[in-house]
Amino acid sequence: MSSEPFWQRKSLDELSDAEWESLCDGCGRCCMQKLQDADEGDVYFTDVACRLLDTDSCQCTDYSNRLKHVEDCVSLRPLDEQKISWLPPSCAYRRLALGEGLASWHPLISGDPLTVVTAGISMSGRCKPENEVPVHELPAHIIEWHDL
Ligand code: SF4
Ligand code: SF4
Repeated sequence: MSSEPFWQRKSLDELSDAEWESLCDGCGRCCMQKLQDADEGDVYFTDVACRLLDTDSCQCTDYSNRLKHVEDCVSLRPLDEQKISWLPPSCAYRRLALGEGLASWHPLISGDPLTVVTAGISMSGRCKPENEVPVHELPAHIIEWHDL
């Protein structure tokens, strides 16, 4: 039997639900509000969190029912090129889909969920709740991942 970890042995399509979920590092980046350029289609992330996100833990507060509450919450599975194109560069699903492997700070590599925070990847404590930012102010909250 191969000693390679499952994310190296299997394609994303072959993963069990539990394996798929364990790849999420809990950074919360994909749960930030996004703006899309109507002409070019480019997606811009903001530091304003979806209303279901706990901005301290960066966990969805009702993950199993999330699609009932937030109709534009995107289920990443199955992953396709369009979803890969807007996911943050640090996202494990995007990285694996692009053949980049998991980063050293990923909990499955480091063995410590806090390395997502210490590496500066998590949005924990540095995003704003949706109810504190009016929609017209969203453009002022656009962020670039490399600036965080
Ligand atoms: S960006 Fe990727 S790794 Fe981070 S919370 Fe979203 S799905 Fe999980
Ligand atoms: S509903 Fe939950 S998983 Fe979906 S964007 Fe909001 S916080 Fe994230």
